[in-house]
Amino acid sequence: METLLVLAHTEPDGSVAGAALETLTAARQLHSALSGGTLVVGLVGESVQPAANRLAGCGAARLLAASHPALAQARYSTDAPAAEAMARASQASIVLAPATSRWNRVLPGVAQRLGGRVDTHVASVAASEGAVSISRWYYRQRMEATLRRSQRPWFILIDPGVYAPWQGQPGAANAEPVTPQLPENLIRTEVLGFREPAIEARTIRPEADVLLVAGAGWTKKQGDGQSKVKDAEKLILGFLKLARASLGSTKSLVDLSGEGQAVLSFLTHLNQVGQTGSTPRHPKGLATCCHGEEPHTVGWRFIHERRAINLDPNCGWARGKADVLYVADAFVVMAKANELLAQAGAS
Ligand SMILES: Cc1cc2nc3c(=O)[nH]c(=O)nc-3n(C[C@H](O)[C@H](O)[C@H](O)COP(=O)(O)OP(=O)(O)OC[C@H]3O[C@@H](n4cnc5c(N)ncnc54)[C@H](O)[C@@H]3O)c2cc1C
Repeated sequence: METLLVLAHTEPDGSVAGAALETLTAARQLHSALSGGTLVVGLVGESVQPAANRLAGCGAARLLAASHPALAQARYSTDAPAAEAMARASQASIVLAPATSRWNRVLPGVAQRLGGRVDTHVASVAASEGAVSISRWYYRQRMEATLRRSQRPWFILIDPGVYAPWQGQPGAANAEPVTPQLPENLIRTEVLGFREPAIEARTIRPEADVLLVAGAGWTKKQGDGQSKVKDAEKLILGFLKLARASLGSTKSLVDLSGEGQAVLSFLTHLNQVGQTGSTPRHPKGLATCCHGEEPHTVGWRFIHERRAINLDPNCGWARGKADVLYVADAFVVMAKANELLAQAGAS
């Protein structure tokens, strides 16, 4: 019989993030597939009551809470004992946690402390005849492996964006307190704050419904013999703002800056999608001025609905890689799309 612990840290306002609700969905599905065993939820943070109330109706047999001012900050030396205390208090054989930067950094060490094992970047969990398995991708998302482990406790970090967030109703929770040992000497490291780009400079938004991919075509000479990089910037940024979309790019486009050509000022290599870039997860994707070559489209593996705009009816997207290909000028289509989005936002 497995005891499943969903381990979540709270946000600064005491709430629980979407990635943790996704992990809860995974754990609930695993729990019912195991038909037996125990589901426990453990919350770690400075204040955990709002999160506990949010999860009150999730069907867990126990709700544990480690609440301490030192746990307000993501700090290895305090997060690790808190996670360890949760695993011990729950007697978990399997710990499922969202693959946030905070848990990714800490839980492999906790698995080591407890003599367990850890798997990161897990894309699914399942059970068959009482045996739990996970799947994850290797070699730039080209090979998927299904794994089982006999060692316990088994820590499983679930990648965000795979499972739907648990949507149940909140309630009034009465969590069992768990008290990790956090002596003063563990609290020497202080997080002074966060530095992040200004909101308008942040183009990568993993939670966005739409991924807009910009290809090198945006910087190429157009029908009138001129390149229109400034227009391209305006159209792309306009769409990102109006559709609250995330921005992906092709390798050709991000590489242009190294070649001294006119480039889109807000793009970096972090935007690159594909074989040597990222494999984002968004419900929808729209590729613009992008040829749709295999090393790029391999990064679209987890995009559910794919559309592309390209002047070339024989581009890669036309060969079964997009659900819809608009054979059109992206400058015109995106200007119209932005106009319609602005109207819809204004009304
Ligand atoms: C080992 C290796 C790894 C690679 N890894 C990656 C990777 O991770 N990610 C990646 O993206 N690429 C990768 N590549 C490169 C990849 O093969 C392609 O070269 C690249 O994706 C092409 O980028 P692109 O489509 O933006 O540019 P182009 O091939 O130059 O295509 C531009 C497109 O824009 C269209 N266009 C121009 N003007 C307009 C307009 N007004 N309206 C509509 N369409 C227009 C053109 O018709 C054309 O199809 C890799 C290559 C190799 C060899």
